Amino acid sequence: MTDDPLPHLQRVFGFPAFRGVQADVVDRVLAGERTLAVMPTGAGKSLCYQLPSVMMEGTCVVVSPLIALMHDQLRAAEAVGIRAATLTSVDENRAETIDRFKAGQLDLLYIAPERASTGHFRELLSQAKLSLFAIDEAHCVSEWGHDFRPDYRLLEPLMDAFPDVGRLALTATADAHTRADICKQLGIPADGMIVSGFDRPNIRYAISPRANTSKQIADIIADQPGPGIVYAQTRAATEKLAEALGRTGRPTRAYHAGLDPRVRARNQADFVASEDMVICATVAFGMGIDKPDVRFVAHAGLPKSIEAYYQETGRAGRDGDPAIAHLFWGAEDFARARQRIGEVESERQPGERTRLAALGALVETAGCRRRILLKHFGEDRLEDCGNCDNCLGNPDAVDATETARKFLSAV
Ligand code: ADP
Ligand code: MG
Ligand code: ZN
Repeated sequence: MTDDPLPHLQRVFGFPAFRGVQADVVDRVLAGERTLAVMPTGAGKSLCYQLPSVMMEGTCVVVSPLIALMHDQLRAAEAVGIRAATLTSVDENRAETIDRFKAGQLDLLYIAPERASTGHFRELLSQAKLSLFAIDEAHCVSEWGHDFRPDYRLLEPLMDAFPDVGRLALTATADAHTRADICKQLGIPADGMIVSGFDRPNIRYAISPRANTSKQIADIIADQPGPGIVYAQTRAATEKLAEALGRTGRPTRAYHAGLDPRVRARNQADFVASEDMVICATVAFGMGIDKPDVRFVAHAGLPKSIEAYYQETGRAGRDGDPAIAHLFWGAEDFARARQRIGEVESERQPGERTRLAALGALVETAGCRRRILLKHFGEDRLEDCGNCDNCLGNPDAVDATETARKFLSAV
């Protein structure tokens, strides 16, 4: 007998309806079918396991790559009355959590892949009743993905020890190749994949060569009220930009892994609460941050890949209102990326070269950016979008194409 999830959605979360493919994913999970859900950032992936976790008997074990991400999710789950806990090095109540887990008093247990893959944890799992394995940010399992984490590879043997427990892998950013690899690495059948549309029509994409970064970004800020994120490539650059952009009169903060953890947490909290703050951050910032009203994302340098670009720009405009994503790049970004690829060499990172070339095509094009972006995720668009710099008549387009061609010939 299957229970209709909709009344549970309304009761637990207070949402009137499922969004996009959520209903399909939840149905598969409740039916015990192994699933990979590929949904863009902000589409509501967490709900796809949180809701089943309250409907099914036992605990859903959620593997998540970042402690900060887990704690955000924990707060959100507890806020709607879901019984959840994290088991990380910074949690002082680990013994209590383990007792609750064994006693069947948890809907969700969040854990990092490093801990999940230990024999100790496997032993613990055998002492509790499990409802589901949820693997968040599942692209981390693939060397083709943009954020490979070797410990994700140990999850399949762990899950294999519990063959009756369902599996749900979730990711926002996977090209066809990475998706197939995720399924293979996590023991999910290829037809167990649910892919939702990737377009974010309210985001306007613009890409220009870099001249004077802080001046170029200050110009964006002048036109663009509301909160914004500026991604810079180094810790020093985030601090310099925060200082320079502060002179526009907007409140600014820096965010990077080298800051005192308390300062970092405070800067993040200030940003989340603010209606006009600009946060200058390394890419460490943003995963799992739920701030719907971000009005612009600016990249002061080339992102790591199209997937990373899509994920980082995807933090703009989650509320559906117009938002801007502006990328500034320079020839030296490509030179540095090529050098990095040369150093790691292709055997361990087979996708790196292809990824850089795809990024080159995106910055080089004089055509519709969105078409290229969506094509990368397997969606073929016939029409131009009308909401990117090239569709709107980018004055820099010719220049950019020339410069890009020169430096891309060597990719
Ligand atoms: P993702 O992990 O896919 O980036 P999240 O799970 O963090 O997205 O969800 C993004 C936001 O969407 C959250 O604020 C969440 O509460 C909201 N959300 C999820 N599902 C629904 C829904 N069916 N109706 C309304 N809001 C939803
Ligand atoms: Mg998420
Ligand atoms: Zn376009």
